[in-house]
Amino acid sequence: MPSSLSTLGTLITLFSAFATSIPLVPRFVSPDEILAEYDYVVIGGGTSGLAVANRLSEDSSKTVLVIESGPMDDGSDSFKIPYLGRGYLNFGTKYDWNVTTVPTESLGNRTIIMPQARVLGGTSSINGMQFARGAASDYDAWEELGNEGWNFKSLDKYFKKSENFTAPSEKLAEEFGITYDKSAHGYTGYIHSSFPRFLWPLLKNWIGSLKSLGHTVSQDPASGGALQLFWSPNSLNPDMQTRSFAREYYDGAQDRANFHVLVDTTVTKLVTSRGDKVKVDAVEFSRSAGTSEKRVKVKKEAVLAAGSIFSPQILQVSGIGPASLLKSLGIEVVVDLPGVGANLQGHVYIPVIYQMANVSLAAANLTTNATFYNEMYELYKAKQDGPFTNGGPNVVAMLPLSDITPDSPETFQTPSESLSHLEPSISKGYQSQLKILLNRLRTKHMAATELLWLSEGGIIISTMHPLSRGSIKTTSPALLSKIPAISTNYLSHPLDTKIAIETLKYTRKITATAEMQELGLVEVLPGASANTNEQIEKAIKDGSGWMYHMVGTCAMMPRDLGGVVDVELRVYGTRNLRVVDASVQPLIPAAHVQATVYAIAEKAADMIKAGSLWREYYNSMP
Ligand SMILES: Cc1cc2nc3c(=O)[nH]c(=O)nc-3n(C[C@H](O)[C@H](O)[C@H](O)COP(=O)(O)OP(=O)(O)OC[C@H]3O[C@@H](n4cnc5c(N)ncnc54)[C@H](O)[C@@H]3O)c2cc1C
Repeated sequence: MPSSLSTLGTLITLFSAFATSIPLVPRFVSPDEILAEYDYVVIGGGTSGLAVANRLSEDSSKTVLVIESGPMDDGSDSFKIPYLGRGYLNFGTKYDWNVTTVPTESLGNRTIIMPQARVLGGTSSINGMQFARGAASDYDAWEELGNEGWNFKSLDKYFKKSENFTAPSEKLAEEFGITYDKSAHGYTGYIHSSFPRFLWPLLKNWIGSLKSLGHTVSQDPASGGALQLFWSPNSLNPDMQTRSFAREYYDGAQDRANFHVLVDTTVTKLVTSRGDKVKVDAVEFSRSAGTSEKRVKVKKEAVLAAGSIFSPQILQVSGIGPASLLKSLGIEVVVDLPGVGANLQGHVYIPVIYQMANVSLAAANLTTNATFYNEMYELYKAKQDGPFTNGGPNVVAMLPLSDITPDSPETFQTPSESLSHLEPSISKGYQSQLKILLNRLRTKHMAATELLWLSEGGIIISTMHPLSRGSIKTTSPALLSKIPAISTNYLSHPLDTKIAIETLKYTRKITATAEMQELGLVEVLPGASANTNEQIEKAIKDGSGWMYHMVGTCAMMPRDLGGVVDVELRVYGTRNLRVVDASVQPLIPAAHVQATVYAIAEKAADMIKAGSLWREYYNSMP
């Protein structure tokens, strides 16, 4: 920040601190205790929402309210212990929204359960704890799409700001060959990134096998080179060996009198008024369906952080979305924005499962041997060591297209006439995305596919830059009455299917290496009956799931390309409404997305603060 501006900022902050009197009430408030208005109302106390709210409340002259639909977590093992958290014990509980997709035609009309956390801390409270950034090319593609200032270099500062990295112990690094680049990490952020104290020995076979096929180990994915083979940390507290998650942003702000949190409360609508641009005057909320709705006024900005399913739904029920959808449900159109809920992207999950004849110590022992389970649980409780410290996979193979097939991506491009059913801006935006992705997928700088070795005896395959697009559509004008229709459409684009088939065939090359043969592997799923491309495709479509990395439904893109937010994350056509969660990512990176979500939230907070500073300056002019 230039020095004249920072002096101005200090003066404004001092002035406002005297001008605003904030009653000192506990940080958890009830609907009856909240102030009549807040400078910032953050909708959704999840991964991004708590990060933004923490940063905004650093300025004690600004009042910040977070409204979260779920409760506070109960601090149980299922949240804290990496091995148990990874077992997803909170799926289907009161901490989950319990949503299911609509039948997906491209997957034989199957529906898929789509866990989404409903708890303070959001999905970071229940996720697989893998913590990695995508490759530089993944973020540079955002800028190429028309988002000036959004590239890997500009995000690097925010990746670091959110992170508190601890290197693995020398013993572990030496035994497994873990490499890292100290300069690529942050050390003062709220989210710990570190390695578990225990790694399954089978990882050595996996690494050896991929190396024997010519793949190199990248020094550290955090430096923009998350390609080939690399070591990925977890969102893990290195001392306690417990989950590190967005709750830590909340913990860091809990003593601030200007920071209020309303849990067990669902936002039902944005209350708007029209001028040259639409303004959010208040946020309407309710404790549960059927109870009376209340309102809180928005003094400066409403910040939407309800995630990729619910942020677009909140916009749609508030009249901001595709006019045709809104009219069909009798919702008054406030801003006709066709991109709201479109452009849904995610990583598909394709398991390949093995029996391992020659292995005595594997993760599967935890499920088959109760004595081993109990001993390891006691070890964790006593010394925070052993398999219970181990959450998401730590070795990632992120391979470009040319490593798995000699065919060029163009061979599988959808003919343009098949897009004629799309609204013109959505079709234009999709074609821009296709062009960028197909160009980049031809290079070695963008990964097409991910392979993760699971020490239970499995490989998870995932297509990283899908060309298939789904959507989120509200099915009712009343938010609380129905879950929106989630249509993933995944594997509907031929290139996505082709990449999945070629990757599955590649797993057979990997398992044929001497290093993997040592384990005595026998593929049981999809197994020997899936040999031809057609058989493999059928097996994939019958057996695939979803990595739960949903993005794109409030995409940051130019408005004429179907974008929902501009480069400052402001919703088009509105004056004081931003979206800051996973949904703004226009193209999904080749990474599990939480590190990117935190980085975006940190950047968003800086932009909101800077916008506020200028507004106050202009307002104070005679
Ligand atoms: C099972 C699972 C495993 C995953 N594993 C990994 C992993 O290992 N590594 C990784 O990097 N990523 C992983 N992810 C993805 C990552 O965790 C998410 O992309 C990220 O946490 C999303 O952050 P968000 O802020 O967009 O949404 P969330 O963190 O989901 O926050 C949204 C919040 O808004 C609240 N909310 C919604 N609607 C309303 C409303 N109307 N009123 C009030 N509050 C509302 C929700 O209750 C929630 O708390 C995983 C995701 C899932 C589901």
